Amino acid sequence: MRKKIVAGNWKMNKSMDEAMILASEVVHMVKDEVNSDVQVIIAPPALYLTTLQKHTEPVANMGIAAQNCSNKASGAYTGEISASMLKSIGVTHVIIGHSERRQYFNESNEQLAEKVNIVLENGMTPIFCCGESLEQRQGEGFFEFVASQLTEGIFHLSSEDFGKVVIAYEPIWAIGTGLTASSAQAQEMHAYLRGHLASKYGQAIADETSILYGGSCNEKNAEEIFSQPDVDGGLIGGASLKSREFTNIAKSF
Ligand code: PEP
Repeated sequence: MRKKIVAGNWKMNKSMDEAMILASEVVHMVKDEVNSDVQVIIAPPALYLTTLQKHTEPVANMGIAAQNCSNKASGAYTGEISASMLKSIGVTHVIIGHSERRQYFNESNEQLAEKVNIVLENGMTPIFCCGESLEQRQGEGFFEFVASQLTEGIFHLSSEDFGKVVIAYEPIWAIGTGLTASSAQAQEMHAYLRGHLASKYGQAIADETSILYGGSCNEKNAEEIFSQPDVDGGLIGGASLKSREFTNIAKSF
């Protein structure tokens, strides 16, 4: 059985006080309302991870993610945060290769592959993002493009390590735009990607890999999207900034 996962990417939002309120509301609602077989992850700004980890840690089906980490282990990299630092404060997951990091910070698949390695070496779970632009979606070859992001970012892993990775398919044209992929479009891509995973790692491992959908997912459309056979949950941006809505999304399976 694949894990069902809902992860909230808060991006660069919220003051410390606001973040504490949001996290404690989410924690209480998850404890009281969300099925224990659904894993709920919050990804606040890095500055708040230490504090908010103490909120999520006692809840068995909750995790806490960093939105990024360095591809270097340690040393003279001003402003960077290493995977081992994240591990040392109890971070469980790291989002790798979000389209905003690829676009605004020019992160290449090669760097992302290094980040995936270092996250795994430190015993955390990478949530590896992939997805095509609007231009690509309107042209040809976008399935192959998204598959190539996986090939270049995670297909160097051994089967054992690959089994620890979570994938998030996030069409860039649907991120923060209010445009959601239809459930059929999400299912089509997820099934295609699962086939791609199977071609490298075999059907059994592909069938165990959670593939999340991300892109304007909200409490109204989550149920329909999550009902698709190859969609195993969501990576949620805007809607993760409201505790009620985010929890309702986690209750949508
Ligand atoms: C995201 O950035 O990962 C995301 C899915 O954003 P939104 O839900 O706001 O589209």
